[in-house]
Amino acid sequence: KVRVRFAPSPTGPLHIGGVRTALYNYLFAKKHGGDFLLRIEDTDQNRYVEGAEQYIIEALNWLNIPYDEGPNKEGNCAPYRQSERKELYKQYADALIESGNAYYAFDTSEELDAHRKDHEEKGKTFIYNWHNRLKLNNSLVLSGEETQQKIDNGDEYVIRFKSPENEMLMLHDIIRGGIEVDSNILDDKVLFKSDGMPTYHLANIVDDHLMNITHVIRGEEWLPSLALHVLLYRAFGWKAPEFAHLPLILKPTGNGKLSKRDGDKMGFPVFPLQWKTAEGDIFTGYREDGYLPEAVVNMLAFLGWNPGTEQEIFSLEELVEAFELERVHKAGAKFDPEKTKWFQNQYLQQVDDATLSEDFIQFLKEKRVSTDSDLDITKIVSILKERATFVNDLWEQGSFFFEAPSNYDKKASAKAFKEETPELLRKVVDIIENEEDFSAENLSEKVKGWITSENIGFGKVMMPLRLSLVGEMKGPDVFEILSILGKEEGVARINKAIE
Ligand code: GLU
Repeated sequence: KVRVRFAPSPTGPLHIGGVRTALYNYLFAKKHGGDFLLRIEDTDQNRYVEGAEQYIIEALNWLNIPYDEGPNKEGNCAPYRQSERKELYKQYADALIESGNAYYAFDTSEELDAHRKDHEEKGKTFIYNWHNRLKLNNSLVLSGEETQQKIDNGDEYVIRFKSPENEMLMLHDIIRGGIEVDSNILDDKVLFKSDGMPTYHLANIVDDHLMNITHVIRGEEWLPSLALHVLLYRAFGWKAPEFAHLPLILKPTGNGKLSKRDGDKMGFPVFPLQWKTAEGDIFTGYREDGYLPEAVVNMLAFLGWNPGTEQEIFSLEELVEAFELERVHKAGAKFDPEKTKWFQNQYLQQVDDATLSEDFIQFLKEKRVSTDSDLDITKIVSILKERATFVNDLWEQGSFFFEAPSNYDKKASAKAFKEETPELLRKVVDIIENEEDFSAENLSEKVKGWITSENIGFGKVMMPLRLSLVGEMKGPDVFEILSILGKEEGVARINKAIE
């Protein structure tokens, strides 16, 4: 059975890159009738950030990417927080020592720095592995006896993986195909730290194994760890899962990785939800910026993948159906804020008028706009919707429904208000005041009928009429506006304009 996991470290808010990783895991799992797990990788206590785990869970909930097993949803492999599994890892590190695949190292950071510096001066990089240490022929290498003595003394140590020497490793990635890595360039990474905690590498492999993970789908930044991970599986004698490394998400310019500051600088969110740092900085989120979760999901699905057809609008179910890891791109995916808005616009159009008007009423309440009139908000929403991308655009487009214009656009009124205007508008008032049927169609028919029969010229009436109702030359059909405002308010506005 396919089992995949999203394994974030709670070191801060989840970036959209992280959300995309979660989404691709989810889509892949559901496509294959498998399980999607959430595992919190919180073994690095120095990088732990309060509230980050909750943020991750809230973001997945908002985006409707539910996990089958994870914190608050315990399955057979609980617990799903590595800090709660910490007793488990030491025995695996010990087993690798036993089998000769790992060793104790006692280097102080001063010693390591000295070696690094030494290499730098010679224009080389210091690759920390046992064969290089042997070549250095110095205090870094200890005999078994010396090692035991130091441990007995209570000296601080770490456990490092012993990478093979002189081996061409053949790795495989579902998206990238075969990858060759020369084992001599590998560092002997720390598996277990002096604070008694495993490192990411050890905990990650042990848990993927114990949780029966079949496919590891994660960001490209983990590709350099692939060799070590494959070697760890080999050292344990376990079957390795398959790997797929997702392309980077690039800045809109294509120039480098999208960073958390880019959104702030350029005015778009890179986080699903708002995040407030301990210093009080606020990063905006898609949710608070008025995006619909479906639009964000659809946008993220296309950030590094496409279905190979023209179709762009996909529900989550349709994405599950269409998604294939083989179709994920190798090259970095440029983040496109405009395209993101386009998705949002498309999804807003799909929201039914009743639901949208509830959101709009909520918005108006927050803005303290009084809505206790006879105004048909659903109707307003239905005629403004096509020009709107966000709920607050409905306000931009249609605030005049709620607030009569207090002044008139200068340029437009110079053009629209002529000597004969008061007389013409008075006639309009006469016509509409007698109408029982205040529908847009009827009003349009009557007023336009009069204009045509009197041969007046449409602009002479329609421009000042719109200005008197709206205050500027914008908005939907004038008769729709008039119909929604109703007789009393409509007539009052026209009269005020010609006072
Ligand atoms: N904890 C790692 C992260 O924060 C997980 C990487 C992986 O999926 O192996 O991304």
